[in-house]
Amino acid sequence: MKVFDELQRFRLIVEHSSNMVVITDAERRIEYVNPSYTRVTGWTLPEVRGLKPGRLLHGPLTDSESVRRISRALSLGESIDGVELVNYRRDGQPYWVRLHIRPVHDESGRLTHFVAIQTDVTERRQSREALMASERRLAEAQRLARMASFECNFDTDEMFWSPGAEQVVGLPEALLPCSFRGHVSLLHHDDRAALDDAYWALVSEQRPYEIEYRLLSGEGKVRWIRERGYYLPAEGALPSRMCGLVFDISATKEAHDRIQYLAWHDTLTGLANREQLQEVLHQRLEVARDTGQHMALLFVDLDRFKTINDSLGHQVGDELLKTCAQRLRDAVRGTDVVGRLGGDEFVVVLAGVDAEAAVDRIASKLLSRIAAPMLIQDRELHVTASLGISLYPRDGETASELMRHADAAMYHAKGKGRNTHSFFSEELNARLSERFELESQLRLALARGELSLHFQPQFQAEGTRLIGFEALLRWQTPDGRWIPPDQFIPVAEESGLIQPIGNWVLEEACAHWQQWRAQYGGDIRVAVNLSASQLRDRGLLARIRQLTERFDMPPGALELELTEAVAMHDPGASIEMMKELRGLQVSLAVDDFGTGYSSLAYLKTLPIQRIKLDRTFVKDMELNPDDQAICKAAIQMAHSLGLEVVAEGVETDAQRSFLVGHGCDLMQGYHLGRPMPASGVMALLANHTERPPPELRPGRSRFRPSGRPS
Ligand code: C2E
Ligand code: CA
Ligand code: CA
Repeated sequence: MKVFDELQRFRLIVEHSSNMVVITDAERRIEYVNPSYTRVTGWTLPEVRGLKPGRLLHGPLTDSESVRRISRALSLGESIDGVELVNYRRDGQPYWVRLHIRPVHDESGRLTHFVAIQTDVTERRQSREALMASERRLAEAQRLARMASFECNFDTDEMFWSPGAEQVVGLPEALLPCSFRGHVSLLHHDDRAALDDAYWALVSEQRPYEIEYRLLSGEGKVRWIRERGYYLPAEGALPSRMCGLVFDISATKEAHDRIQYLAWHDTLTGLANREQLQEVLHQRLEVARDTGQHMALLFVDLDRFKTINDSLGHQVGDELLKTCAQRLRDAVRGTDVVGRLGGDEFVVVLAGVDAEAAVDRIASKLLSRIAAPMLIQDRELHVTASLGISLYPRDGETASELMRHADAAMYHAKGKGRNTHSFFSEELNARLSERFELESQLRLALARGELSLHFQPQFQAEGTRLIGFEALLRWQTPDGRWIPPDQFIPVAEESGLIQPIGNWVLEEACAHWQQWRAQYGGDIRVAVNLSASQLRDRGLLARIRQLTERFDMPPGALELELTEAVAMHDPGASIEMMKELRGLQVSLAVDDFGTGYSSLAYLKTLPIQRIKLDRTFVKDMELNPDDQAICKAAIQMAHSLGLEVVAEGVETDAQRSFLVGHGCDLMQGYHLGRPMPASGVMALLANHTERPPPELRPGRSRFRPSGRPS
C-alpha cells in the first residue's frame, strides 16, 4: 500500500509538469500518462492504457539501435538518462524527446513500475540541425566560392583556418600557416611587404584591408589570392583578434591576363595586333615629338600569299605566317615593334633611325630574310614580300597618316614587281589615288558595256595575204575618254578584274571570229592576249574548249599570245598549261619577243608556234644596225626551231621590205592596218579575197579608225 501512496503523491506532482510523464508496470504497459503527454502526443490515458509506449510512439525515423539499447537496459532494471529519440504523435508528426526512465521497486526490491520523463526537445533539435545545415552550406559555399576564412589572435599570434582552407590556398592541411608571420612568409617575395603593412594597420588602427597577392602553393605553382581582413574587438572571454577571408582568384586572374593578352596580341603569331600597334605608335610618336627623334614605319605585305593559302591549304598558310613573323622579329632590335595587322600584312616600327639609308638597309634585310626558303610541312616554300616605308616626321605627323602612307608605298612596291621596297612620296601618293580612281571605274566598265574589242590585221609577209586579226581591248569611259590598255590592264591584273575581263575578251573574240568566218569563207585566225593570272586559272582550259566547240573553230583558228614574262613565271606550271592548251588545238605565240630574257634553250622548251618580234626592234631598224642584227638573228633562230616569226609595229615600207628580205613570215603594223572596230573588220573582209585589193597594198591602208587611239 505504501508504494501505491507514494505513486499517488507522485501523480499530483507530475500532473502539472511541463514534461511528459509516463508510468508503466514492470511489463512496460502504460498505467499512467500526464496531461503534458496528451498535449504533445495527442494520446489520452484511456486510449493508451495497457499499451507499450514504444509500439505507440516509434516510427520510421526512430533510431532502432537506441530503442534496443533502452530496452536492454530496462530489462536489466537499469535506468536511462538523457537519451534523445524521435517519437511520433498520434497525427504522425515526429518530435524529439529527451528521455529519462527510472525503474521503481517495492520494499522487497521487486521491480513494479517504470517512470519515464520525456522532455520535448524538438525545437532545440531543429535549431541545432538548422545551424549544422547552415554550417554545411557555408562550407560548401566557401568551397564553391574558392574561399576560406581564418581567425588570428593578436596576443598569441595563433591562426586558425576554416575547414577546406587547404583547397583554397593550395597547401596540404598540415602546412597551413599557424601564425600570421608564417602566413606572410608563404607569399611571393614581392607581395609580402604589402600584406605585412596591411596587417599592422589593422592591428594598430583597426583598419580593414583587402589585398591581392601571389601564394606559392604546394605544387610550386603560383596562386592568386585576394584577402580581406577585419578587426574583431574583444567580447566576453574572447580577446581582440582579426578575421580574414581568403579567395582563390587564380582562374579569374588568368582569364583576365588572357583577355589582356588577346586584346593586345595577334593570336596566330604572338606579334602585336592592330590595337597594340596603334597604341604603341601613338606613344612612340609622342616621345619622338618631344625628343626630336625620327621614326620609320614599315609596311610588309607578302606577295601572292593568297595563292599559297588557296593551293596549299590554310595550315600551311598559317605556318608560313608564323615563320615570317619570327623572321621579322629576329631581324630587328628588341625595342622595335613588330605587329600583324591581319592577313599577310605586317608592320615594323623603327624608332630612333634618322638616316634614310639606314632604313633602306633594314628594309632590304627584312625582304631578304623573308625570301629565304622555308621548310613547312616537309615542303620548301619560297615567298617574297613587298615593303612600303613612311618616315616620321617627313611623311606624316600622325599614326594614321604614317600608316596610310606606308601602305601606299607598299602598294607602289608591289607595282614595281614585288620583292622590293619603296619609300613614300607625294608624287607616288597622287599616282596611287589616280590608280584607285581608275580601278573603281574599271569595276563598272564591263557591266556598263564600256569595253570593246578592236582588231588589228596580220598579213603574210610577202603576199600581204590576210591571215587574221589580233584582238585588242579598248575602253571608252562615259565621258568619252579612251583609256589605253597599257594603263588599265595592269590595274585590272592587280585588282583581279582581269579574270572577268579576260573571259569576256575571249568570248567576244571567238564570237567575232564566227562572223568573219561566215563572211570570209577562207581560213582566218583571231589572236587574243592572255595575262599571267589567266594562264594560272585552271578554268581556262574548260572555257576554251567550250568556246572552240560552241563556235566550231578548227585547229589554229584561235591563237593565244603570251609574253615571255607570262610564260616564264613559274615555268613548270606554265609549260604544263601551254601543253594542255596545245592539246585543244589552240596555237600559241610568244608576244613582245626580245624584250625579256628568252634564250634559245628556253624557247625550245615551250610548245609554241610563233614568236612576235617586239616593235621596238622594228621601229629603229632603218637607223640602228643593232636592231637589224637582232631581227635577223631572231628570225634565223626561230626558223631553226621551226617557229614562225611575226613582226610587230611595221610602220614603213622600208621596214616591211627589210623583214621580208630576211624571211620574216608575218607582219602587223600601222603600215598594213591599224586596229579597227568590228565594223571595220567586216568591211575589210568583204573586200578581201585571196588576192589583196589594191587599197590594202602597203602604205595605203584605208582602215585608219578616225579619232581613236590604237
Ligand atoms: P601588244 O600585245 O604588243 O599589242 C600590240 C600593240 O601595238 C597594240 O597597242 C597596237 O595598237 C600597237 N601597234 C600595232 N601596230 C603598231 C604600229 O605599227 N606602231 C605602233 N607604235 N604601235 C602599233 P594597244 O592596243 O595599245 O595594246 C597595248 C597592249 O595592251 C598590248 O600590247 C597588250 O599587251 C595589251 N592588251 C591589249 N588588249 C589586251 C587584252 O585583251 N588582254 C590582255 N591581257 N592584254 C591586252
Ligand atoms: Ca599582243
Ligand atoms: Ca606585242
